[in-house]
Amino acid sequence: MMQIDKIFKLPGAYVLLVDLKTSYQSEIGSLGNIKFSAGHYFYFGSARGHGGMQARVQRHIRAKKKLHWHVDWLLLSGTVIKVLLIAGGVECNIRQKADLINDLKVIAPGFGSSDCDQCRTHLLAVNGDGSDALKKLQGVTGGGIYSATSFFPNTAAQPVIV
Ligand SMILES: [Zn+2]
Repeated sequence: MMQIDKIFKLPGAYVLLVDLKTSYQSEIGSLGNIKFSAGHYFYFGSARGHGGMQARVQRHIRAKKKLHWHVDWLLLSGTVIKVLLIAGGVECNIRQKADLINDLKVIAPGFGSSDCDQCRTHLLAVNGDGSDALKKLQGVTGGGIYSATSFFPNTAAQPVIV
């Protein structure tokens, strides 16, 4: 079996489960003014660069950073609680597989998908706390689900769902 830390460093696609405790409104680049209701969200991304999925997910979780991607604004208020990693996966592919899962809905068209001509958005709102929907998504995409705390070296990387 492959070591978890090796999986983390591979390129691939990931899905962030974001918890937004209170509603949040902001100007987000070209999208204009967007209002997010309190609740849970899936954000779809991929990482091809040095450090693989781990480096990218760490960046998302880290509080201090220059705002660059649309999701950076959402994460000023929201918190990443779980992450689905699909080594070698392609974000648009994973995003489209999410259409097979109930309880997900499109909000903020164009969010995270400015340079994507296949998806309306890379952000979906989730009914409920998102854990079941993330597990269902994992069922169609494969990959592993990890807690957000797994991405920092001072905590042992453990899958929360096996
Ligand atoms: Zn896409």
